[in-house]
Amino acid sequence: MEKLIGLQSSEYEHSDDKKALDRLKSNVAFRKIMAEVIRQGVERIYRIQYTGSCLKVDKDDYPGIYKVLGNAVDTLGVEGKLVPDLYLQYDYMINAFTTGEHQPLLVLNSGTLDLLEEDEQTFIIGHELGHILSHHVLYHMIVNSLTGFIDLGALINAAIELPLFYWSRMSELTADRAGLLACQDVTACIRAMIKMAGLPQSQYKHINTQAFIDQAHEFNTKNTGFLDESFKFIAIANSTHPWLVLRAAELLKWVESGEYDALLKKHRAIECPHCGNDIAAGDNPCPICGSLIR
Ligand SMILES: [Zn+2]
Ligand SMILES: [Zn+2]
Repeated sequence: MEKLIGLQSSEYEHSDDKKALDRLKSNVAFRKIMAEVIRQGVERIYRIQYTGSCLKVDKDDYPGIYKVLGNAVDTLGVEGKLVPDLYLQYDYMINAFTTGEHQPLLVLNSGTLDLLEEDEQTFIIGHELGHILSHHVLYHMIVNSLTGFIDLGALINAAIELPLFYWSRMSELTADRAGLLACQDVTACIRAMIKMAGLPQSQYKHINTQAFIDQAHEFNTKNTGFLDESFKFIAIANSTHPWLVLRAAELLKWVESGEYDALLKKHRAIECPHCGNDIAAGDNPCPICGSLIR
């Protein structure tokens, strides 16, 4: 995987994610909920729950599993406190999630490891790192609190639920882009999505990425101009459904726009011919020694 130097999440965040989150943050009711979530120590409650029930993975105990996270962390340039602790939980649905804004904790389902190839796992892990890098995790904890074990009582009503679920859907589109930037193989992303969408394991050897890409394109063409509306409906109708065809369609649109390639080209690591340090291909002069790169 090409390491991406100096990549900022703002360079790939989906515009609908940003717009929806800005709208949320300016909502007074939302700010009250956020304060309550912080007051109740929700981050700590989640942390206790998962560290007390899931299997911890680090580079010494399960190096083969940890390596996939380590590579994605390197590729996306995740640093310091943003590097999540890694835990596993027994569940054969292909899925992963992250909790903890201040001390992120990434939980992978066993199925994600047993049913996905390494490049597909990298997509899933990169997707979660994308949520961390864009600081989605606090707001996701609020979304989960709506359906989970934290009682926010009267603070929650439809007027806040709808924009919250809508943003949550949009945040997936940003995270999918981070997943692709981590694995750098769009067919690996598509394969992971096909498996998540329901392909049985007995059919994995017949997996047809092109058929799913065609399905996504067809979905896009038939629903042009209607996507906003359908997103709003999906947001309420089924808050946890991954809605994979639409996600694939949005990811492919981004690739076909050329933005993805441009980011890879700009941030891929090259060696400075003067000082020998790794710098981003788009950097000139070298940010380390100041020499002009020809
Ligand atoms: Zn996600
Ligand atoms: Zn240099």
